[in-house]
Amino acid sequence: MTAPSSRGRRVPTTNPLTLASRGRVALAYDLGGTKVEAALVRDDGKVMKSERLPVRVDAGPSGLVAQMAELGRALLALPEGRRVRAVGLASAGPLDPRAGVLFDPTNLFTAGKGWGKVPIARLLSAKLKLPVTLENDAAAAILAEKWKGAARRAQNAVMLTLGTGLGVGVICDGALVRAGRGLHPEGGHVLLKYGDASAPCACGTLGCAEAFLSGAAFGRRAVQVHQVSGARDSAEITARAREKDPASLAAFAEYAELLAAAIQTYVVLYSPELIVLAGSFAQAADLFLPQMQPHLKRRLSRRRVGVDLLPRVEVSRLHNHAGVLGGAFVALRSKPHP
Ligand SMILES: [Zn+2]
Repeated sequence: MTAPSSRGRRVPTTNPLTLASRGRVALAYDLGGTKVEAALVRDDGKVMKSERLPVRVDAGPSGLVAQMAELGRALLALPEGRRVRAVGLASAGPLDPRAGVLFDPTNLFTAGKGWGKVPIARLLSAKLKLPVTLENDAAAAILAEKWKGAARRAQNAVMLTLGTGLGVGVICDGALVRAGRGLHPEGGHVLLKYGDASAPCACGTLGCAEAFLSGAAFGRRAVQVHQVSGARDSAEITARAREKDPASLAAFAEYAELLAAAIQTYVVLYSPELIVLAGSFAQAADLFLPQMQPHLKRRLSRRRVGVDLLPRVEVSRLHNHAGVLGGAFVALRSKPHP
């Protein structure tokens, strides 16, 4: 089964989630709320060259596309880059991967105003003169984990990307799970604490999982709720927790409890045997994962009879390249229009 995408290419919507290695190279992007990465990726999963820059949001969507094209052209000019025939873009959502359109992306705005609809695949394709396939970044990340990472042998896996936002990607019975109407299941916006004023979410609601569990949210809560002083972001709070600062450790203790609650929700929805944690904040997993496990075990104690729903929880070993690997995967898997 296939669906049309930008420039007449067709994106497979079902399995297999595998790729034959034929020496092809893709240009892949990972577009997040704060950073954009571009990479040349071989079809055996090797990232040959990558560049990462802060996202330029001041000039709106056209400025961002210009920035991405500039990044891409530099890579395409390299000897390996001349072999590129397909471009994959893993992006923060919401978006329609089939139409190649961003729908007012939650974490991208200029002067407090959202961007509305952005036909980013078509705009980038026009600049690079190459076909561009768009995919939700959380979907791309779980595809990358299934292709080359921790989920290689898993048929049922949920990936949590802990970065600027909280991305949730799901594979059930070996196939990528999508929501209706071309959208991605926005698992980061399930409500963890309905109406909690201490947890405003970028989507406009209070108390979403993302408003507690993204790396950015952790940093904000550590300062505002746990009164960690002298630290500005999650990386600095992580450093302080490693030095046994009590307020920073309290922030991690709360994080572990809330993460268990969120994982419980994903477990009862999707029954994964594996949870993969990725994104920049997963690097702090040694400070919250050992504490999280007993909470999760307790929460799922009634769901271990018959089918044991307690999942393994692992940290991604793709070194924060899951986005570009997933972007490369969707680019290389897409077939030219017949
Ligand atoms: Zn939300």
